[in-house]
Amino acid sequence: MSEKACIKCHIITETKECPICNGREFTDKFTGVAIIFNPEKSEIAKELKTERKGAYALRIRK
Ligand SMILES: [Zn+2]
Repeated sequence: MSEKACIKCHIITETKECPICNGREFTDKFTGVAIIFNPEKSEIAKELKTERKGAYALRIRK
């Protein structure tokens, strides 16, 4: 099974729907992965505008 990143939230997931935005548009064309453990304290979380723990794609190629 391949990991995909939501094109909106950048979260990496293997589910059919994005756990954050419920979107169904994913891409496997992403580079860099950031694991966010403390969304309140994470600069990356701020940049990605997320409050959820998880693995995120840093850059999504379009
Ligand atoms: Zn999403």
